Amino acid sequence: MKRQYWLTMGGVVLGLGAGIVFRSFLPQSLLHGERKDDLEESLVGSLDPQGTLPEIEVTFLRCGSVQVPECIAVRGSLSARPLTISYSAVLIKHPQATFLYDTGLCADIELFLMDQALFFKQTLGRFDFEQSISNLLHTYGVQASDLDFAVISHLHWDHVSGIPDLPGIPLRINRVEYDAASQGLFERNRGLVRRLLSNNPVQLLDFTGDPYEGFPCSHDLFGDGSIILVPLPGHTAGQMGMFINRSNGARLFLLADAAWLADNYVRPATMHPVLWSLVTSDDAIAKQTLVDLYYFSRQHPEIAMIGMHDAQLQDAFMTVEQNRRIIHTQETPIDADARRRVK
Ligand SMILES: [Zn+2]
Repeated sequence: MKRQYWLTMGGVVLGLGAGIVFRSFLPQSLLHGERKDDLEESLVGSLDPQGTLPEIEVTFLRCGSVQVPECIAVRGSLSARPLTISYSAVLIKHPQATFLYDTGLCADIELFLMDQALFFKQTLGRFDFEQSISNLLHTYGVQASDLDFAVISHLHWDHVSGIPDLPGIPLRINRVEYDAASQGLFERNRGLVRRLLSNNPVQLLDFTGDPYEGFPCSHDLFGDGSIILVPLPGHTAGQMGMFINRSNGARLFLLADAAWLADNYVRPATMHPVLWSLVTSDDAIAKQTLVDLYYFSRQHPEIAMIGMHDAQLQDAFMTVEQNRRIIHTQETPIDADARRRVK
């Protein structure tokens, strides 16, 4: 009798477990409620009527990557085809400053990760190292000491992992993000983020600027309308996206980790819920940010919206950008293999 009971219970638990796992791969509708009114206004055609925006060069620097099945990266996808998730920084040359958005990976990143727990190393900390941020900067004729500062989109380890290669470079961080990280994120994973931040000076940013493109506040980095930071909360408390408005190329919106891939905001869809819960600090706010990006992408198809792990879009952008530079400046092309020399 007892044996029969436990067999039945085991069957029920297994069935429930299989059902939960199956459901976790099914689509989840994020679009309920009203569309945000303030996202409806479009600035197309009125961005630079006087032609005052500067020329800005934008270069994605890919330091590492990992292959992830599409159904894990995008909830609701039924495909298991491998997608490349990149670990990247962006080099931005503005007339007033040369700086990074996020920092990629330093040459010693494997040493920093050596003492991490096996679970972390096999999940969030698993990637193929390709090239250090210092090597990549050198490829593009920039020394780390040439950088004026680095804007840190948020304080997850994979966005501050290049800092040890950038000694003394000031780090510009949203004050909200820094304060939230002080409550625990700095010390998580045996102090990994705190150690990666090294002793670089920190310059805290406040979002005291006007609403911008439907986002409730902003920070204009140079006061010229070219580099506008906006809050993209949820993934972390103070994550920052960056608009790049320029006279010499496409308008860009860097999304940090608000969306891993374009599919996340096009559908919209989170990543698989298990992964999502591991990396998201506020589920409801992060989903709202995704929904905001969904509406924004429909209103602004002319703007390239690129996440910091979206290898496909980053490669596509760099192909277009290099062709533009060849045409306009006769710059010698640096092909994708050189950009990504595997160690
Ligand atoms: Zn990330």
